[in-house]
Amino acid sequence: MSFMPAEDRAPVIVIDGPAGAGKSTVAREVARRMDLPFLDTGAIYRAITLVLLRDQIPPADSPKLRERVLDFRVSFSDCRVFVGTEDVTEAIRTPEIDRAVSAYSALRTVRESLLDIQRNLAENGLVAEGRDMGTVVFPYADVKIFLTASPEARAGRRYHERVGRGEAVSYDDTLSAVKRRDRMDSERSEAPLRAAEDSMLFDTTCRDFEQVVSRIMDMCRSKLKIPAI
Ligand code: C5P
Repeated sequence: MSFMPAEDRAPVIVIDGPAGAGKSTVAREVARRMDLPFLDTGAIYRAITLVLLRDQIPPADSPKLRERVLDFRVSFSDCRVFVGTEDVTEAIRTPEIDRAVSAYSALRTVRESLLDIQRNLAENGLVAEGRDMGTVVFPYADVKIFLTASPEARAGRRYHERVGRGEAVSYDDTLSAVKRRDRMDSERSEAPLRAAEDSMLFDTTCRDFEQVVSRIMDMCRSKLKIPAI
């Protein structure tokens, strides 16, 4: 499916940015307030990484990898992520997946195979977050936001999330992992992480969740010409 210009469809709001900028929690809340579906595209890349790791297919183009990505079926239900009928919600959030995901995501075969999956999910409008939403997947999005924060602030958030889940992690390792992923995601040739020219940049370093959500809601209302309530 190609992605249609605005007059023919429900609103599409995209939020891109590096790991730990707060995209997921913020995008989920914006979706709730806008009454639109929410799409976490990082979860799709994580799920395909899980599948390829389990099948021991290395992150390089090969007939085996092509065959496997064509077969890949991902779906979302009640904030859970499924590959086929298997619930992989927890399995895609491990340090192993964190380490491997950027190498698989850099492959053109992987990215192309996921394009239609993402666009088909936008049929009823959505709030989607990722790295290339505004530049590649939804270039006609009605609202494009690019969230950033300092690497230290982003690593701090990831570290607290992980500690909160009872994982034994160190802040320094989390910071190195965040910087490594930033480098890989920004330097790849296929759909690198970057702000679309028509996106609104927003640094969340010294802002709390409510401030970020309110500001984005203001941006959405103004772009979509929705009166403030
Ligand atoms: O957002 P999250 O940290 O879960 O994303 C995991 C990884 O998936 C990113 O580091 C990136 O390599 C890849 N990704 C991507 N394009 C997207 C979303 C995620 O390449 N749209």
